[in-house]
Amino acid sequence: MSVDTSLTPVPFARPSIGVEEEEAVLAVMRSGWLTTGAVSAQFEQEFAKEVGARHALALNSATAGLHLALESLGVGPGSVVITTPYTFASSAEVARYLGADPVFVDIDESTLNIDPVLVESTVERVSREGRRVSALLPVHVAGRPCDMEAIHRVSLAHGIPIVEDAAHAFPVMYGDRHVGTIGDAGVYSFYATKTITTGEGGMVVTDRDEVAARIRIMRLHGIDRDVWNRYTEPGASWKYDIVAAGYKYNLTDLAAAIGRVQLKKARSFLERRRAIVRRYLTAFSAFDFLTLPSWTENHAWHLFIVRLKDGKLALSRDELITELQARGIGVSVHFIPLHIMSYYRERYGLQPEDFPVAHACYESSVSLPLSASLTDDEVDRVIAAVAEIGVAHHR
Ligand SMILES: *Cc1c(COP(=O)(O)O)cnc(C)c1O
Repeated sequence: MSVDTSLTPVPFARPSIGVEEEEAVLAVMRSGWLTTGAVSAQFEQEFAKEVGARHALALNSATAGLHLALESLGVGPGSVVITTPYTFASSAEVARYLGADPVFVDIDESTLNIDPVLVESTVERVSREGRRVSALLPVHVAGRPCDMEAIHRVSLAHGIPIVEDAAHAFPVMYGDRHVGTIGDAGVYSFYATKTITTGEGGMVVTDRDEVAARIRIMRLHGIDRDVWNRYTEPGASWKYDIVAAGYKYNLTDLAAAIGRVQLKKARSFLERRRAIVRRYLTAFSAFDFLTLPSWTENHAWHLFIVRLKDGKLALSRDELITELQARGIGVSVHFIPLHIMSYYRERYGLQPEDFPVAHACYESSVSLPLSASLTDDEVDRVIAAVAEIGVAHHR
């Protein structure tokens, strides 16, 4: 009996995990060493080589990576971290972990990325108010590189370090460099839906030795040296010192084993994502009710975010989402901007219209299914659902 796949939902994001990942995890399980060890160290070396960074430090999340990157660069109480409201929780909460305040800067409508002109004017305003800007934290939204040249100019002019939130942006180049390796530190996410995954996990890359050294210590309780081999190396010393109140942010070898395989597949995953995006763009260009992301090779295509144009359909954005879901299409919204979230709104007295572009983009955006494991049939079902809704609800 055949299954009617037309009734199976199209998942918003589905990880691409194969036999190679299963075997890699089994090998770690059978090795007698499960947590941070030789496999994590190999993953770090391979990742650093891949992106052309001097150091790569594996962590149990990108959030942990952003936290420690800021910490290692001297972000502390009372200082300001400049970021975008058009992002996930992590990008701003990490400033709060350190007693710093996130100051939001609106985005560019065509890229959804932080507006570099406003970064400059905001740095000047915050400085005039007598506060220290301790970091710039741009987010490469959906995998499209920020204008790093302009952000770098601000960084140089004012002596402010850059931490790139590259959670969406592996792999993608900016000029001849990998996104994530342009700032003082860059942070990738291996969360289950990201372009490569370890279930949960993250990686910080940096060319700065002292930043790497600090993160290495802080990710494992502030212990002054790698200690995983103290159990396995014959004659290894049982002694260690604690030099800071560190954190418990290390990546397990179980996760790193998945990451090593995923890293090898990253290129082919990207090719598949590009093919899906081209298919979407070709099909949707016939519709007058969507604003589409502009095509570029220079994009990791983690997310496919479309915007509902005003007045074309007799549907609100929320109703469009309901219609898509009713047809079994997994959708999401990227992002509900942080400045309208209770915590930031109340703590910093923010209004929706304080960041009008971010707010307008939020109100009109829908993210459609995009992952390397999506089949052509599933892509066609997404296209058919959007077409059907367009016909049924056109004004
Ligand atoms: C997913 C995400 C993160 C956090 O990644 P984790 O690995 O889940 O901590 C940070 N920033 C952005 C923009 C993200 O989308």
